Amino acid sequence: MKIESQCIHGGYTPSNGEPSALPIYQSTTFRYTSTDEVAKLFDLEAAGFFYSRLANPTVDAVERKIAALEGGVAALATSSGQAAVFTTVVTIAKAGDHIVASSSIYGGTFNLLGTSLKRLGIDITFVNQKDSDEELDKAFRPNTKLVLGETLANPALTVLDIERFAKLAHRHNVPLVVDNTFATPFLCRPFEYGADIVVHSTTKYMDGHAIQLGGVIVDSGNFDWTCGNFPEFTEPDESYHGTIYTKAFGRQAFIVKARAQVIRDFGCLQTAQGAFYLDLGLQSLPVRMAAHCRNAEQVAAFLEGHEKVAHVLYPGLPSSPDHALAQKYLPRGTAGVISFTLKGGRDAGARFIDALKMIMLEVHVADIRTCVLHPASSTHRQLSDSQLVECGIEPGMVRLSVGLENVQDILDDLAQALDRA
Ligand SMILES: *Cc1c(COP(=O)(O)O)cnc(C)c1O
Repeated sequence: MKIESQCIHGGYTPSNGEPSALPIYQSTTFRYTSTDEVAKLFDLEAAGFFYSRLANPTVDAVERKIAALEGGVAALATSSGQAAVFTTVVTIAKAGDHIVASSSIYGGTFNLLGTSLKRLGIDITFVNQKDSDEELDKAFRPNTKLVLGETLANPALTVLDIERFAKLAHRHNVPLVVDNTFATPFLCRPFEYGADIVVHSTTKYMDGHAIQLGGVIVDSGNFDWTCGNFPEFTEPDESYHGTIYTKAFGRQAFIVKARAQVIRDFGCLQTAQGAFYLDLGLQSLPVRMAAHCRNAEQVAAFLEGHEKVAHVLYPGLPSSPDHALAQKYLPRGTAGVISFTLKGGRDAGARFIDALKMIMLEVHVADIRTCVLHPASSTHRQLSDSQLVECGIEPGMVRLSVGLENVQDILDDLAQALDRA
């Protein structure tokens, strides 16, 4: 099936007389008739549901759908995007290990990796994704376990050269993990360029309506965990009676280990209700993404030509330094998020946002409603103008997420607010 059809039919195939829409299995537990069957489930010898902290039929269906959308072998739906990144890293690395990540990533991930996981003993080197191969090679150590970057970074909107980063990671015998949140599998499928694991915050376009927190991890099944660098995958796991993940589960070794160890112990699976909402959002993903791209392209061109706008960050614009990468990795469009800077600085940014009528001020991005955020007066308000510039945020910068309203209404609202900025 093509992606439009997978979004509708993937993951759940009703049999004769069963509900056409995915049912919500609102049950924490599942009944069995013999102790023997339950023992097999606990030893990972049989597949089945027994407790919704580990797996649930509604969650399972949406996981299958997303695995198909990304072209992976299996997926795992988590309670948030943060949980997806956390689960991925701690499935692969432990205290004493080291990871490499692009510095052009979501602020929440930057904190998770740079502060919280560091406190747990996993060290990190952030790299500039524009650096030369030679420079990037220097970030690796003998205990490096993975490389992470974002297809289309939030909010820097840089485009990751996935093929180059996959080669870099593989030269050092570690997997490349790509956060594909802003692109979604409709705009980019990172496995086709050599990425090994994909993560998403499904809270953004996949849900698309700003109703349900969620994340997902997808396994390509392509990384060779037996390369000698990952003993936890190739030696017996005593918490599962000596299961060897690579032996017992082959190409699904990573995702089974993530569920069996990390999800079991840290407890951050998506809920049945949450998975149902996510599934509903996914059904219209291709239609929505195409429309987000169409609207955003018009809005970006309008902003770039406006006298009060200093510059616009949008890789879909021919003037963007990432335009060539965008044409390669995101040929269908570069989604709906645009960052732009007003000439009048911090005050102009605040005046502009306060003057908007339809466009909403929200700490969110990537849903059907057009929304804006002014980092200098909200998420980064404690910083001085010079400190802001140090973090790559200009005082007059606005992050705009272009929604699915009629584009003329969006342009009219922007125009009248810019007049007052
Ligand atoms: C929002 C976001 C996250 C975190 O996801 P939550 O669902 O908010 O936990 C991770 N990565 C990217 C790129 C994001 O935009």
